[in-house]
Amino acid sequence: MKQIVLFGAPAAGKGTLAGKIKKILPQIPHISTGDILRENKKNETPLGLKAKEYMDSGKLVPDELVIDMVEDRLKRDDVKNYGYLLDGFPRTLSQAEKLEEIAPAEVVLVLDVPRQELLNRVLGRISCPECNAIYNKFSIPPKKEGICDICGAKLVHRSDDTEETMNKRIDTYEENAGPVIRFYEEKGLVKHVDGTRTMHLTEKEIKSFLEIV
Ligand code: AMP
Repeated sequence: MKQIVLFGAPAAGKGTLAGKIKKILPQIPHISTGDILRENKKNETPLGLKAKEYMDSGKLVPDELVIDMVEDRLKRDDVKNYGYLLDGFPRTLSQAEKLEEIAPAEVVLVLDVPRQELLNRVLGRISCPECNAIYNKFSIPPKKEGICDICGAKLVHRSDDTEETMNKRIDTYEENAGPVIRFYEEKGLVKHVDGTRTMHLTEKEIKSFLEIV
């Protein structure tokens, strides 16, 4: 049982690190607010329709919508039994304060990556709409071009992965990150991870970040 928050700019490698943590804690539910919102957008649910314009322009979806969505998700039994691996939430101080009331984080991994590296990553990023696996055309290509190695679905380029939207998303991240990181630093929960080498982190290093023996 572990309550983990992954915090970092878009394309900082939260999904990649989540995959590595899942190998160590296979039962922990990986909850990505971006994935849940994209699913809602694809299915044109009331939430998806409300979130669409914010997401497509690189802005944050309003706190009350995201908080309700996460609160619902955290009520499920898998979270009660195994904790959570939150990816992309909290992103604002209000979200962090709310999470503290519902199910407080025990460790916050902050991924640090320079802006230029983030831009390079995102322009090559392709992902699987079925199983959410992430690839990069340049650095981590799938075995067969355009096809997911894991489930065979056709890979897609996210509609918000353009240079203009990406710069806006990094600006948004930077505006909100300071207060969230300070909130958790005051609680002594922050561990900084060098996001340029997430791919190469060993199990031992990750266990030491998570304080698991
Ligand atoms: P991500 O996949 O985490 O980069 O999220 C994609 C988009 O979903 C973001 O650019 C936001 O528009 C929205 N989003 C995801 N998580 C949150 C959150 N915690 N608060 C507000 N908006 C979010």
